[in-house]
Amino acid sequence: MEANPCLSCGACCAHYRVSFYWGETDDVTPNGVPAALTDDLTPFRRVMKGTNQVPPRCIALCGEIGQCAWCSIYERRPQVCRDLPASYSNGAASEHCDKARLAHGLPPLKKLGIRNFWVERAIYDLLHSALLSGVLCGLASLRDTRTGARKDAKPQRMYKEMICQ
Ligand code: SF4
Ligand code: SF4
Repeated sequence: MEANPCLSCGACCAHYRVSFYWGETDDVTPNGVPAALTDDLTPFRRVMKGTNQVPPRCIALCGEIGQCAWCSIYERRPQVCRDLPASYSNGAASEHCDKARLAHGLPPLKKLGIRNFWVERAIYDLLHSALLSGVLCGLASLRDTRTGARKDAKPQRMYKEMICQ
């Protein structure tokens, strides 16, 4: 079975401004997108912190792009994230996926042979349960702290540590 390509990618989470209707956040909708991880964009829209800057990188993204990456709020990510398919996850190329990958020096995904996307998706969901995400992100934060990596993104790391405990 092919591995889910998103788990070794994360490019779209560090390429686009991720904005969405304000009502998706948890100060309005229970178990919605954590409001603390968003900024106001307009009176009616919010944006994931870190994505309204150059270069963008969503505050909820953990890991290394192109190596091992995951969303620390996977179960609570905004609808716009759910609506961006990986190329060929539904049988067709995804322009936004390809564009984000290319921007990070990653080749567009190719059409794969026989694969069961929904089985992979179920495993992906399992891997991204809150507990496992917390452990993985905690390890990533620990490593960042030890190596001093991403020094230019200290505020983001602080948030990461907050949300990844
Ligand atoms: S949707 Fe595409 S760009 Fe986004 S993480 Fe998955 S493979 Fe990468
Ligand atoms: S909320 Fe999650 S899926 Fe959406 S951009 Fe941020 S890290 Fe990616």
